[in-house]
Amino acid sequence: MEGFTSKSIHTKFLKKDAHGSLHMPVYDCVSFEFESSEAIVDAFEGKKAAHAYTRITNPTMEHFEQKIRAVTGAQAVLALSSGMAAISNLIMTLCGSGDHIICSTYLFGNTKSLLDVTLKKWGLEVSFVDLEDLDAVKAAVTDKTRMIFGETIANPQMRVIDIPNLSKIAKENDIPLVIDSTVTPPYLFDGKVHGADIEVISSTKYISGGATSVGGLIIDHGTFAWKKNIHLADLAKKVGPFALIANLRKEVYRNLGACISPHNANLQSLGLDTLALRADKSCKNTLELAKFLEGNDKIKKVNYPGLTSSPYHEISDVLFPNLPGSILTFDCESKEASFVLMNKLQMIRRSTNLNDNKTLIIHPSSTIFAEFSEEEKLEMEVTPTLLRLSVGIEDIEDIKNDLLQGLE
Ligand SMILES: *Cc1c(COP(=O)(O)O)cnc(C)c1O
Repeated sequence: MEGFTSKSIHTKFLKKDAHGSLHMPVYDCVSFEFESSEAIVDAFEGKKAAHAYTRITNPTMEHFEQKIRAVTGAQAVLALSSGMAAISNLIMTLCGSGDHIICSTYLFGNTKSLLDVTLKKWGLEVSFVDLEDLDAVKAAVTDKTRMIFGETIANPQMRVIDIPNLSKIAKENDIPLVIDSTVTPPYLFDGKVHGADIEVISSTKYISGGATSVGGLIIDHGTFAWKKNIHLADLAKKVGPFALIANLRKEVYRNLGACISPHNANLQSLGLDTLALRADKSCKNTLELAKFLEGNDKIKKVNYPGLTSSPYHEISDVLFPNLPGSILTFDCESKEASFVLMNKLQMIRRSTNLNDNKTLIIHPSSTIFAEFSEEEKLEMEVTPTLLRLSVGIEDIEDIKNDLLQGLE
């Protein structure tokens, strides 16, 4: 089986279902019983893999992880309660107080706040660097740098980073490259091929199947030798390439209680089965809308890496052979004009979130970036005239017509 969807749908259960269920049931339970006192000891000592307690593993959660492993070819996968849980758990595993991260200037707002406020209190040092400036990245490396972190396509700036070249720098310095590929999940972006050692994903977005549930993923491609991370070196001697996920499951994720619920794992597992179908439709819609908006004289600028006018068109073609996702941004003539447009829309929803089946619109500067000062917003290229459209799977003419009547 080679295809993404076939692999997702036909991922084998690790254990045969007692009733031969074709769909992995939702194991709505907290704990699991053992045959004997010896068997429970074996499970706790890690001699025999077994589910003991749902905060650590559960068959429904595990099956979702196995499906992600099947479609990505990853070494190991962990499903968590949210995208933010994935990012925070990963950082707390790879870094300690006084350690250092090199991170893109253009970031999802909550990730920026996590690094700049929450983890700063615990002594994490962060250099925010424009990852397109490879010399600046090299110059920022210290002997305490534990990861380079960036997003495939930063939104709302729609900047694409040169992952293959960042991977070279990371390798030369024995640092893992961590990529948040939320807006271009597997199927749109193959992290392993392009040199991402780890991917973190908010599966709340594309994977959930249309905004059904909150969840997150840590995907370890097995390309970074964990003996090179000071916090994982000992464990790596025992479990080699599984050290990262083992440390999470047996310590950080377990202790922080960041598990996904079995219900959400089930919804996201269903979402994964239709990801390719939905992504094909919404990405095609996005390219068509981007061209359509580019041709409208009330709109100043359209940002979508799939447009030939985009400065990222070339790298985008390399990284995202299908299409670069289903988010686009555009500038109106003024903030007022952007609000008028939003208020006139009939079908497109005024809402945050990304990669819903429904087309969503938001004014980033006054909403998702509201906690930042005007200066910070401008530094992050979040301008007052900018609108973000997360394009859904509706019929393209309906989306176009709604925007047309809104722009009249
Ligand atoms: C939404 C999002 C997150 C956070 O994910 P949650 O599931 O909402 O916690 C992280 N990174 C990016 C790029 C996102 O869009």
